[in-house]
Amino acid sequence: MMLTTTSPEYDDARLGYQRRNPHRPEVIFPVTDATEVEEAVRYAIDHDKKIAVQASGHGLTGGIDGGVLIATAAFNQVTVDPDRKTAWIEAGATWRDVMEATAPYGLAPLSGSFPGVGAISYTLGGGLGLMARRFGYAADHVRRIELVTMDGIRRDADPDLFWATRGGGGNFGVVTGMEIELFDVPTLYGGSLYFDLAEHPDVLEVWREWTKTVPDEVTTAMALVPLPDIPAVPPALRGKYIAQVQLVILGDDGEELIRPLRAIGQPAMDTVGELPYVESEKIFAEPDRPDSFSTRNVLVSDLDPTSLATLPKLAGPEAPTRCVVAIRQLGGALTREPAVANAVCHRDAAYSITLISPGGDGDSELQNAVLEPWHELTVGRLLNFNGGGIDLRDVYDEGTFTRLTELREQYDPERRLQANHQL
Ligand SMILES: Cc1cc2nc3c(=O)[nH]c(=O)nc-3n(C[C@H](O)[C@H](O)[C@H](O)COP(=O)(O)OP(=O)(O)OC[C@H]3O[C@@H](n4cnc5c(N)ncnc54)[C@H](O)[C@@H]3O)c2cc1C
Repeated sequence: MMLTTTSPEYDDARLGYQRRNPHRPEVIFPVTDATEVEEAVRYAIDHDKKIAVQASGHGLTGGIDGGVLIATAAFNQVTVDPDRKTAWIEAGATWRDVMEATAPYGLAPLSGSFPGVGAISYTLGGGLGLMARRFGYAADHVRRIELVTMDGIRRDADPDLFWATRGGGGNFGVVTGMEIELFDVPTLYGGSLYFDLAEHPDVLEVWREWTKTVPDEVTTAMALVPLPDIPAVPPALRGKYIAQVQLVILGDDGEELIRPLRAIGQPAMDTVGELPYVESEKIFAEPDRPDSFSTRNVLVSDLDPTSLATLPKLAGPEAPTRCVVAIRQLGGALTREPAVANAVCHRDAAYSITLISPGGDGDSELQNAVLEPWHELTVGRLLNFNGGGIDLRDVYDEGTFTRLTELREQYDPERRLQANHQL
């Protein structure tokens, strides 16, 4: 099936989660299998059109104008092999689709904070998950990738493409499916401690110090969130500037390990406890509605206490626009190279800092003000947590960037494929 701008389904098929600069393609192929992906790519080649791909639209950085949009949302089957502890996931599968398929076997994927995100694109961009410090990047645990390259041919990724697609994003072809490894994690200990920053300004420093002491079984993050006073927000948090300490702990020592955080005092809300992995979206509890937003991320070698302490002033309720700062601790297994090398870089980074803002006029000014104090500690950027307009040389080291751009030239010399982060 092919949709045109006059088809009644056109808007539903082109609009995803990110509503800023949505796709405005000439035609849309809402594909349901790999053969339809091949047909869509061949149509674009025959008519000399550009191609964009969209699963859920969480990673859109700027829509295609004209050309062909391959919409993969309905191409989303997940097939689990419980003996090998792997899953074959199709192009449009979200992490929710994957978790629901793997949970009956007590197995979990290396999914992230929000289950509505597309599993394929997340993994192509590295994939920083809920158990990242224990197991590494999602891209470190991929067994096989199948894709349709820009000559219209469906193929298994050869060693070059297998290296490039795991971390290099959607620059090398339309991925039709991927075999990923699964882990024996039926349940975890986790959730969020929501502290009112007005009552507990020490939470940032206590969390920073605590992260220096924790084992790899702990993956933790903190979001600084100015919450509006509206009914959609839980009553205990309404109108407050919150430090949300997000916790994922594997093993039996969870309560003991978080004792220093509990010593901060009474949180305004506490969702920490035993949790089936399939319900892991409760940990970050991110909003599940399409939005217009902008993100900018830096990877840093350390958290400087002074710069950390100034974040609530720069990005809090007094900031020119409402924004969220999200800090994730890295390290652990993220520092280790996978058995088969891939394009993920800056493994020595210790923390990731991301600013999420509404994407309006004052955006770049705000990004500069909030992230500038981190300049000296910045070692790079994470592909997945950045909106458009970044220099991809910041995401990769020089050798990786050169090899990626050479492979891009080899596999898509006409630059037909319009990835969200274009190499
Ligand atoms: C609320 C939220 C939470 C997030 N949490 C995390 C997290 O915990 N960890 C993390 O690492 N990232 C996270 N991300 C970032 C997310 O992984 C990236 O934005 C990712 O690109 C989104 O993929 P998608 O399929 O959902 O989005 P889409 O917008 O559908 O896809 C993004 C891009 O991927 C490419 N693409 C999609 N499908 C294919 C395909 N089949 N073949 C080739 N290229 C393709 C296209 O270039 C497309 O523009 C989060 C994002 C949001 C908005």
